[in-house]
Amino acid sequence: MNKKIDLLTRLAREESTGNLSGEEHYRDNIYYAATDSGYRPIFKALLTNRCIYDCSYCVNRRSSDLHRGEFTPAEFARKINRLQLEKKIMGAFISSGVYPNPEEATARLYRTAYLLRKKYKFSRYLHVKIMPGTSRRLIERVSKLADRVSVNIETISGSCLEQIAPDKKGGVLKKTLYDLKQITSSATTQLMPGVVEDTDRDILNLSEKLYRRLGLSRVYYSSYRSREDSYSLKKEASVREKRLYQADFLLKNYNFAVGELLIEDKLPRDMDPKLSWALRNPEFFPREINTASRSSLLRVPGIGPRSAEKIISLRQKQKITSHNVSSLSLYQKSRHFLLCDGIYMGHHYDRDYIKNLLLKNEKKSEKLRLFSDKGDK
Ligand code: SF4
Repeated sequence: MNKKIDLLTRLAREESTGNLSGEEHYRDNIYYAATDSGYRPIFKALLTNRCIYDCSYCVNRRSSDLHRGEFTPAEFARKINRLQLEKKIMGAFISSGVYPNPEEATARLYRTAYLLRKKYKFSRYLHVKIMPGTSRRLIERVSKLADRVSVNIETISGSCLEQIAPDKKGGVLKKTLYDLKQITSSATTQLMPGVVEDTDRDILNLSEKLYRRLGLSRVYYSSYRSREDSYSLKKEASVREKRLYQADFLLKNYNFAVGELLIEDKLPRDMDPKLSWALRNPEFFPREINTASRSSLLRVPGIGPRSAEKIISLRQKQKITSHNVSSLSLYQKSRHFLLCDGIYMGHHYDRDYIKNLLLKNEKKSEKLRLFSDKGDK
């Protein structure tokens, strides 16, 4: 049993992307998911790594010379329940290869979810992957049990997908995603930058569409990294993934438009996209903290929705001055872009000076952070 768990949790990490650089988020087969309130231990595993599909980018593809294993739904549910009773996890993310067909693979995940909720009274977070092509009826049943359901789109278009995943049909995938969205408000998807020749603009345009037109609750990014890639290629893919998450956050919560975040078709790699936008638009700053609108405050590097609310609530009671501004506990970087009661809060409002100073700090803090797509930007 332990060998099977090792195999199917390891392959869940590598599923689709062949991602070998995410090891730091795992300990003892438990995945530590980054959330707004810190890292949360999640059991993330495949019910089986058998798959009838042959996606060229996936370690679990049918032509892969790989040891195969599977849990029964009863074993899978028992294992998750045991981890919950031992207080080792705060939730589970269950997925599967497509085996023996999409409907049955999802049905097995459904049976696992059913046992967890009904037999074991599992009340923790539960994320269930839906196989493309699953019937609407079954999606409805899964959605009643799961906190989150997802189907992976992977690439920027159906035709790109069919080149690398010949068994997956763009139309089928789209229909499953559409059904998912009709049934639940907690539908998510995953895109895999780098598996075809896509630009950051292609990816973000699609994400914007998924949020604004389809109303998805979240788009995840998992950069394609091949086992054969050099260290520097893997590193470049990780940086790209991180910038996409940051840009995604700015699209969803800060009202930026895709075009504002890009330099030609690419996100900046040397700094976060919001700081880059601020440095490219010096005429927009500095903003007076006492009068700037909420949307202007959100454009200040270091100020996010929480800080903007705090600022607005303080200035409704009293003028913000050098005497009370510290009570807001703003990020240091924001002061380079703010006036407080008419007085500039930084040292010297000069684009290059601020850029050099903040890039030095950014490099230091990036070493300390695994993800920076959380909290105030
Ligand atoms: S469907 Fe494709 S991506 Fe999913 S497990 Fe099978 S081969 Fe991998």
